[in-house]
Amino acid sequence: MGVPLATEARLASIRDRVPTVATLCSHSSLQIFHGAKAEGLPTLGISVGKPPRFYDAFPLARPDRFISVPHVKDLGGADARLREAGAIVVPHGSFVEYLGPEAFSRLDVPVFGNRAVLAWESDREKEREWLDSAGVSMPTRYDDPSEVDGPVIVKYHGAKGGKGFFLAKNREALADFRPTGPFVIQEYVLGTRYYMHFFYSPLSDRGYRVGHGSLELLGMDRRDEANIDELYKLGAQEELLKAGIRPTFVVTGNVPVILRESLLEKAFDVAARIVERSIELFGGMVGPFCVEGIMTEELEFKVFEISTRIVAGTNLFISGSPYSDLVEPGLSTGRRIAQEILRAKSEGRLAEVLS
Ligand code: AMP
Repeated sequence: MGVPLATEARLASIRDRVPTVATLCSHSSLQIFHGAKAEGLPTLGISVGKPPRFYDAFPLARPDRFISVPHVKDLGGADARLREAGAIVVPHGSFVEYLGPEAFSRLDVPVFGNRAVLAWESDREKEREWLDSAGVSMPTRYDDPSEVDGPVIVKYHGAKGGKGFFLAKNREALADFRPTGPFVIQEYVLGTRYYMHFFYSPLSDRGYRVGHGSLELLGMDRRDEANIDELYKLGAQEELLKAGIRPTFVVTGNVPVILRESLLEKAFDVAARIVERSIELFGGMVGPFCVEGIMTEELEFKVFEISTRIVAGTNLFISGSPYSDLVEPGLSTGRRIAQEILRAKSEGRLAEVLS
């Protein structure tokens, strides 16, 4: 039996009725609606302004109905209408970013997953405390620039899309860094990036057991980041810097990847540690999360970030991935979320997957 995350009062609006899967019309909403519809659940799109017309082009993913709010800032006030609709809100990256972590945690409507995770994820210090104490390897952090002994990446607090990150090849190059706000200096890990899409089910009693449930791997991607990913075409970075051209890490797309099969053991071990520690710290992460890291040439996986909800890279796998196909053919993360809701409902365990 898992940990109850939602109170009876929080679940009152979906008691004795078929819940409706609701999300903000953005990010991975097509996948979330498509998955819910495939499992026979009603769907509701929340739009800022008029519902986007592009849904008309995708009949298998168009939500059954929409509610609209005039501005992003009004999203937090939509909860009464969402309760009335019997909605379970499935959060995605844009939803939380538009609403802000505080307004999101105050939303008075059932939300898929454990919203307590936000306090640990949205603060880089707390996220590090979580991962470090889970025994996960992370890039070294330098509190004092004089300790730097290799390439580093300097990240400003709250920098959106990796804009304004500063790269330095060594301590000497770091002397050129002129901070414009609070920042952290991190080891720049040399290797190859993997963004692994996991799903933790506290309900499941088979498969790769972790905590009171089990862990699934549903896909893997690598992000396309502008301008860093193609910067080499213009020449050496030193020259570019002299010309005032700085690297940025703005996500513009995603490409599918798979991991060398023998490394999967490592990948599962890292994800399992993160889940186990989350159970100890705040009752556990539930549902989709993404472990984002770099595999070095020594085959050590260093995690620089985790996202604790569905990530946009899963959109590559609406009709299954080389991993999810081995769980169930054609399974997407969106569909897996709908399955978890249905199972929790039929077993009377919604409080364990909603908050
Ligand atoms: P973040 O904002 O932490 O998700 O980082 C944005 C991007 O910067 C990542 O997707 C990576 O491409 C790159 N990056 C972040 N941290 C590191 C690191 N420690 N070493 C190398 N690349 C990194």
